[in-house]
Amino acid sequence: MNSNYFVLKNHSLQRFHTFRLDVIASIIILPLTKKGLISALRDYSDRKFIIIGNGSNMIFKQTSYDESTVFIVTTMIDKIQINGDQLYVQAGVTLNKLAWFTCENSIDGYAFCEDIPGTLGGALMMNAGQWQYTIGQYVNWIEVYDYDTKETRIIYPDENFFVYRHSELNNQNVVVLSASLKIKPGDYMEILDKMLEYRRERYVKQPRNFPNGGSSFKRPKDKDGEWLFMWKLFDACDLRGYRVGDAQVSQKHPGFIVNCGNARVADVQLVIAECKKRVKEKFDVDIELEWRVI
Ligand SMILES: Cc1cc2nc3c(=O)[nH]c(=O)nc-3n(C[C@H](O)[C@H](O)[C@H](O)COP(=O)(O)OP(=O)(O)OC[C@H]3O[C@@H](n4cnc5c(N)ncnc54)[C@H](O)[C@@H]3O)c2cc1C
Repeated sequence: MNSNYFVLKNHSLQRFHTFRLDVIASIIILPLTKKGLISALRDYSDRKFIIIGNGSNMIFKQTSYDESTVFIVTTMIDKIQINGDQLYVQAGVTLNKLAWFTCENSIDGYAFCEDIPGTLGGALMMNAGQWQYTIGQYVNWIEVYDYDTKETRIIYPDENFFVYRHSELNNQNVVVLSASLKIKPGDYMEILDKMLEYRRERYVKQPRNFPNGGSSFKRPKDKDGEWLFMWKLFDACDLRGYRVGDAQVSQKHPGFIVNCGNARVADVQLVIAECKKRVKEKFDVDIELEWRVI
């Protein structure tokens, strides 16, 4: 172990993503601090990096990865503090922690984060959100490590930087280290009520009894540009409950593919392919994965 990070060799990635596939990685690095993350990025700069936050928006297409790929898990880089009129949040802080920290400090706006199981870094990449709220709305600046220069720099996003479930960060060769978020004073009890209400609503709708990676597909639009409901398309195609091995289109909410036990990479790929095929055949609509496939 380098004093700034742990290295796991030939270890399963199962506990580092929410879908829980048993995939073996030759090298997994767990930085203890932001400095440790930067050291690891420099020490292994000849390899391909895959950064994992909470792994709640990713699945894998291989059953193993050799030493040419280095996985870095950011969840231990989790400092959060109030700096004057701004919130300083490191990349590995979970959105749940962000929501509770802001509630405890009577800061409004972050209740929507409470039940989204990602980290700040992953959320900024995906512009995570729900209803009218997205994390991008709250950003002052983002501190990143730039793979090209091997240095850190600050990004000040303009109004086009964040769009629906996507950010300009994906077009820059960078790793998110930390960010400054906006502070707006709020009422503790109102924020608490909102968080509990949102969580209840989500638990009622979503499958929580099996590991999953959240919504599997992006919501498509029809030929007239109207948004379609994934669950309606899937029900019309008789996909609810469709299963290969232990990978299954959720019985509770067909927008989710779940891991009923020991789903294998190939099972998930077959379920995804069947969903795409049936929706295309019946509705002539191409559906696109929301998940990042590694
Ligand atoms: C039950 C469930 C419910 C969900 N509900 C919602 C929801 O309501 N709204 C929503 O938007 N999403 C939702 N999601 C999806 C997911 O939680 C979000 O997309 C989240 O923002 C992903 O964060 P993460 O840390 O898990 O990212 P990961 O899955 O770890 O990574 C996602 C991508 O970001 C990259 N990345 C991660 N960290 C960094 C970093 N520090 N620097 C650079 N790149 C990085 C990864 O390489 C990958 O490409 C849900 C998922 C689950 C399982």
